[in-house]
Amino acid sequence: MKKIKKFLSFAACVIISFALFFDIASGEDNISAENPPKKYIALTFDDGPHPRYTDKILDILAEKKVAATFFVVGDRAEIYPETLLKMKKLNCEIGNHTYNHVDLSKTRKSAILYQLQKCSEVIYEATGEYPLVYRPPFGRIRKEDEKAVPMRKILWTVDSLDWNTKNKDKVIRNVVKSVRDGSIILMHDFYRSTLNALPEIIDELRKAGYEFATVSELAALKKISNLQD
Ligand code: ZN
Repeated sequence: MKKIKKFLSFAACVIISFALFFDIASGEDNISAENPPKKYIALTFDDGPHPRYTDKILDILAEKKVAATFFVVGDRAEIYPETLLKMKKLNCEIGNHTYNHVDLSKTRKSAILYQLQKCSEVIYEATGEYPLVYRPPFGRIRKEDEKAVPMRKILWTVDSLDWNTKNKDKVIRNVVKSVRDGSIILMHDFYRSTLNALPEIIDELRKAGYEFATVSELAALKKISNLQD
């Protein structure tokens, strides 16, 4: 009896291994009309952490099982290390948005490196990990200075214009109408309207077949295209 059980579990292992092998080996072949390639987008939030809205945004992301990316400002992040830890626990990515939210295109190189290094140290202190990505405030940094930065620059391809409209419905519309595979969506965890728009944005995008990724995941999937430069 024991021998039969052993044989059956061995046979099950062989069958599962074969199934896994063929699943992996077939790869792209799985894509068909019934099984189209997945579409991915990244939600990104700049300028936080905010004393109230960032935690609430994280609660929505947790409830809806979505990982997003937060480009945090160092002098705010050092006041709310527990918020950064919560981001990490929710598998969100934390990016560097300088220490004082300075315009890097108007900053000399040594100060640029200081701004980014100091913000990275704050992120490391809070989470035990250095960021892999940064977003220059206003999306601006001189080409020659960019080469000296040891992180991947991430801009955006869809601007929610939340900073401009501060209107929930307009934020939803701006995102949903422009989104496509590989989009990086710019939002700010600094406005109530963004917080209020978020559940509907996630639901609408999910309904349209999008999966949510962090910006580094999007880069690994080679989905990043059309980056503003
Ligand atoms: Zn910013």
